[in-house]
Amino acid sequence: MGDGPVLLLGGTGEARALAESLIAAGIPVISSLAGRVRDPRLPVGEVRIGGFGGVDGLAEWIRAHHVDVVVDATHPFATTMTAHAATVADRMGLPLLRVRRPAWTPGPGDRWETVPDMRAAGDEIAARASRRPGDLRVLLTTGRQDVGVFAGIGDATFLIRVVDPPTTDLPPRHRILRSRGPYDLSSERELMRTNEIDVLVTKNSGGELTRAKLVAAAELGVGVVMVDRPAEPPSGMAVDSVAAAMDWILEVASR
Ligand code: NAP
Repeated sequence: MGDGPVLLLGGTGEARALAESLIAAGIPVISSLAGRVRDPRLPVGEVRIGGFGGVDGLAEWIRAHHVDVVVDATHPFATTMTAHAATVADRMGLPLLRVRRPAWTPGPGDRWETVPDMRAAGDEIAARASRRPGDLRVLLTTGRQDVGVFAGIGDATFLIRVVDPPTTDLPPRHRILRSRGPYDLSSERELMRTNEIDVLVTKNSGGELTRAKLVAAAELGVGVVMVDRPAEPPSGMAVDSVAAAMDWILEVASR
């Protein structure tokens, strides 16, 4: 590895922790955020925000900043960025590491319906709402980009938890709850209880910061519609923790 920085594609807690470890180890790093939220949680060190302009823009940016290594610690559902990183690293012959936290898995007491994508989650909620005689009360935690999928469902009431307000169409009966994790078990329990939630819709993001909703749902007998992770392109090396990522980077740096 030369003197160039690590490009750390982030927007996750793991990326923030990794930036901190890299700086502590004296390894230059530039973190990159998509700019999806108005007031993002920033990692320590140098940060750039916003898209690169596709594959060619990313390649150009990497060249201009003399990047030696790319670490893709983006969200498990940020598949476009992950695909672009894999294409560009391959094209430029750069070492690439994918850091992806483990998925959540159901335990005893969990009542999950796992669906392959957000459209299927919309179909599942529509089917449950039509089967249910009274109101189906849904806690939607899939992020503002995906709310539009549920816009056509008129016979359910949605509590939509988002960091920034959605700009897509919304279901006729909804309330927006603006907040940002991490969340603890007692507040998740309280939220589901006071809003009489019947079903929670979530992506299988994994990680501890937002896991409490699953524990609360299991405790309260709330059903979960779990959107499975999208497939990722096969890339070079992949790890599932910040410690393993750090080991890999230190090994590459020593070459
Ligand atoms: P995406 O579909 O993978 O990326 C779309 C475009 O956003 C990319 O092509 C890239 O633009 C830009 N981008 C994404 N991540 C970037 C980064 N770290 N640095 C610079 N540019 C970046 O990702 P998404 O649209 O942000 O999110 C897709 C899903 O992931 C959503 O379901 C969202 O809820 C979830 N998610 C994303 C983040 C995040 O930080 N991105 C965090 C939490 C959850 P160019 O092509 O112009 O380079």
